[in-house]
This record gives sequence, C-alpha cells and structure tokens, in this order.
Amino acid sequence: MVLLFGGLPIYHQRLIKAVLKFYGIESEFLPEPDYDAFLIGRKYCSRGFCNPAYFTIGNLIKFLMEKKKKGEDISKYVYITVGACGPCRFGMYVEEYKKALKLAGFENFKIAILDQDNGYKIEGIEIKKPFSFIWDLGKAIMIGDILRSLRYKLISYKKNEVSKDEIENVIEKIITSYEKTLSTNPQLLSIFKTAIKTRKYIKKIPLDFNKKLPKVMVIGEFWASTTESYGNYKVHEYLLENNVDVKPEYITNWLTYQFFIKRKEKKIRNEATFKSILIMFLLEHAIYLIFETLRKIYFSIPDPLQKQSELYKLALPYYDPLVVGGEGHLEVAKHIWAAKHGIDLVISLKPFGCMPSTQSDAINYKVSKDYKTLFLSVETSGDGEVNVKNRISMKLFEAKKKFKEKLKAS
Ligand code: SF4
Repeated sequence: MVLLFGGLPIYHQRLIKAVLKFYGIESEFLPEPDYDAFLIGRKYCSRGFCNPAYFTIGNLIKFLMEKKKKGEDISKYVYITVGACGPCRFGMYVEEYKKALKLAGFENFKIAILDQDNGYKIEGIEIKKPFSFIWDLGKAIMIGDILRSLRYKLISYKKNEVSKDEIENVIEKIITSYEKTLSTNPQLLSIFKTAIKTRKYIKKIPLDFNKKLPKVMVIGEFWASTTESYGNYKVHEYLLENNVDVKPEYITNWLTYQFFIKRKEKKIRNEATFKSILIMFLLEHAIYLIFETLRKIYFSIPDPLQKQSELYKLALPYYDPLVVGGEGHLEVAKHIWAAKHGIDLVISLKPFGCMPSTQSDAINYKVSKDYKTLFLSVETSGDGEVNVKNRISMKLFEAKKKFKEKLKAS
C-alpha cells in the first residue's frame, strides 16, 4: 500500500514523506496543483464549492488519470486527507472527494481520513505509536515553515552579487539534511543537531539586513494563504519578485490554534479534565519552544511564530474567538498583530465565496480604518490571475510610497 497525499507546500510534503518513511509507510505526494487540475476539479465537483476543493480533488483525479493512461497500477494507493467538521464546507470535503472520484470513474479508489475522532488511525495501516507519529508530523510542519520563511528572507536580503539559484541550492542542501534526519531519527535532539549543522550554509551567504524593504504579510484562508501553487497564482513568488519582505502564513499556527481553541472551548463549557487541559497547554507551548529554538539556530532570520494567547486578546474587541470554522478569529487577530508590529501591507487571500473569510473581511475593513493599515482582500477563483495581480500591484505601489514617507520621517 502506498499512501498518497497533497495540498501542502512542497517543503512540507517532502518532510512529511520522510517522517512516513521512518514509520515504514511508503508514500508519494501529489505534484503542485495547476490550472488543469482546477479545471478537472470544477468538472467533477459540485457547483459553488470552494476552490481549494477544486484544486486538491482535481489534482488527485489528474494524477490518477495520468497513471491510468500509462497503464500503471493505482489500486496500491490510498489517498490521505484531514477530516473535520464545522460550520463551513470543509466538513463536506471527504464526501465531495468520493463523489468526484466516482464521477471520474475511480469509484473504488480508497480515501483515508486522518482525524482525532478515529484516533488518527489509517485503515489498512498499523501505526505503532500514534501519538509519536502525529507529533513527528508536527515537527515536519514546523521545519517546513522555518525553511520557507528562511528562503523568503534570504532571497529578499541577499546582496546583489548572490543569485537566486545560489539561495535555492543552499535551501536544497538544508532540506535534504532534514529529510535524512526525519526518515532515520526524528527525535528533537537530532533535529536540533541538523539545524546546527546546516546553519553554516547560511553563514556563507552575503546578506544585507540594512536593506530597507516594505514588509508584506500574507494571511487568509488556510489553503489559499499557504499554498505556493497556481491555487493563489503563486502570490508569494510574485511578491518576492516585487522586492518586498514577505511574511508567510505558518501552518504551525494552525496546530497551535487547534490546541488553544479546544482548550478554551472545553474549559468554558466545563467539558474537560484538568489533565487534558494541561496536556493541550503543554503541547501548544512545546511547539512555541521548538519553533523558537530552530529560529534562533538560524540566526533569528525566519519570522517568529505568533502566540495564540496574544492573537486571542487582540481579536476579542472585534470577533468572538469561540466562533469557529475556517480561520475563526485568526484573520482579524493577525491583521491587528500586523498593525502593532510595523507591517506595511496585509494581503488576505481567500477562495471565492469562502464563508468564514468573507465574515473576517467585513471586520477587517473596520480594523483597517481603526488602525490605519493598508489592507487588501483578494478572492482567488482559479481564473482571473491578471486581475488579482493587478490589484496586488496597485496596493504594493501604495505601500511602497507610504513606506518611503515613513523612512523619510524617521
Ligand atoms: S474555510 Fe472557506 S474555503 Fe475553506 S472549506 Fe471553509 S468555506 Fe471553503
């Protein structure tokens, strides 16, 4: 059996594959979803669904179609996806996967759901230590986030004589080292040793942190803001080409949010024991500690991870954090966080018709007025790349102008 997965940025997928190898699970990840994947998804999914579903489901069907065309055996694959319920359409994704696969002629294709309700069990695969397995996947996510931010920073702050290819080579060396570590010994100590061993590559790159670049933070719906594919028209690369300091959305934020919000909910509703609350607290804080240690090893170059308790307090006057679904209060909280941390432009990416993000957008326009921020909300429909990039480019122009004025005044 081969586990098939997709939907995350490429670094994260490579690192997750390495963890799966450590647990003796053979896996493959899907390539980045492209426009063709989107069209296939739109053809087989329900009308008016969210475009992350069109991209991810279409990408899976595209992959299976290509394999079938080459006469390859697809019965060995099990596609793994994350399950959840809630007020938005995410809770219906698995059913949508099944429906679209049936329509595309892959009715018997197997899908496994990784979620808390079934104890993170994957049918047909025996995981000996489920807690360690999930924890090690979490470490892969953290490293992926650190490397992604590191890459953006190195590209933005490299001296002119350094080419982008040199940066890519350095990041490739680092990620290859982590792949080796995670597939053989994903213990924290060996992860930190890998970090210490690989920081020498960074030291060799001539960097100039005196460069004055406007800071642009990307927030929004989970998939639209984290993907580095055509799903958001490769917005992060576009921003890097426009010479700004890009602050990406960390997937780790989603992990800490899960621990934090579940703890809050259960405490308020008196549904949890002291022990379970303590465990969630410790796990959340262990993540902060690991992330910060890795960040420090890389000379504090990657952006810091925000604390959920801070985000919670920031959002409270505008959004009830116990209203969950999608990003919950996080889009509003991160916007306020940006205003308080000198970010010059906040871009919020959301799939067309995303319910929770539409709600946050309405509030974010009020936040923008109150905190005098530059805020741009962009809907990614799968079509309309030129329109989206035009809007971003106009807002960037404004942000750069404001940034120059700020520098003059300081
Ligand atoms: S958060 Fe938005 S895009 Fe994501 S599943 Fe929910 S409604 Fe769809």
